[in-house]
Amino acid sequence: MPTKEELIHRWDNFLTKIENRFNESLEQAEAACFEQLHETDFDYYTVFRSWQGIKAQIQLLIQKIHETWHQKVEPEMRYLGDFWTDESYKSSELSDRLTSDLEAFQRTLEGKLSLLFYNHVMAKTDEHIPCSQCNAMVAINMAMFRAQYLTCAYCNTVNTYEPTTQFHQIGWNIIDNIAAHNTKAYFEAMETASEALRLQRKPVAQHYWNQYKKAYFQYYEAYFKERIKYNAEAADRYEDDMKRKTKEYNDYEQIQRN
Ligand SMILES: [Zn+2]
Repeated sequence: MPTKEELIHRWDNFLTKIENRFNESLEQAEAACFEQLHETDFDYYTVFRSWQGIKAQIQLLIQKIHETWHQKVEPEMRYLGDFWTDESYKSSELSDRLTSDLEAFQRTLEGKLSLLFYNHVMAKTDEHIPCSQCNAMVAINMAMFRAQYLTCAYCNTVNTYEPTTQFHQIGWNIIDNIAAHNTKAYFEAMETASEALRLQRKPVAQHYWNQYKKAYFQYYEAYFKERIKYNAEAADRYEDDMKRKTKEYNDYEQIQRN
């Protein structure tokens, strides 16, 4: 029969193996997604569906931690004594950490793939179209991802510009992903403040609320402003977006405090 030390050692080994496999899986996933993006001639949504499949597999790997603990490790340890209570936290600690790493990885991956997509589509999109009437070159608004009605400066004819599907797609969520990626540091600061708040016992000191509120608004302001850099029309939505986020914040604080 294994000793206490052997069981702990085996348990630690198992956790290390899971973490290594997790890290390898992420590396492979990133390489596979980049490759597929090129192979599909930048079909972002096909790549994203593949990623969802890979992610489900990685989530199963994370679930294995709790399963193994409950089905194998805990019963064996219990048989030998009380030390299992000191070992059980390791399963939650690792699965929480990997779950949050997986979300962070996804944000970064979406950001990188979106930036590749954006650069690729921008590079192959003409910045001008010839006027249908006089053939003069009419400039396209490269930060507006929909049909455009462009007046020719020479003959005043209104030309309709219908962008490619991929150019349209930039305006769907490609820019949102890029903006989220570019403001990652603010997002992480918000997450840290949120976690600090979550760990407090009630009643929570005002200081923690102040920190979270500050980080929350810093993130959303940075994110919405970043989006405007890529999408001219996002500027018109800025005030409404911030109003919505303010309401969400106030609702959240009210629920949490009561
Ligand atoms: Zn013209």
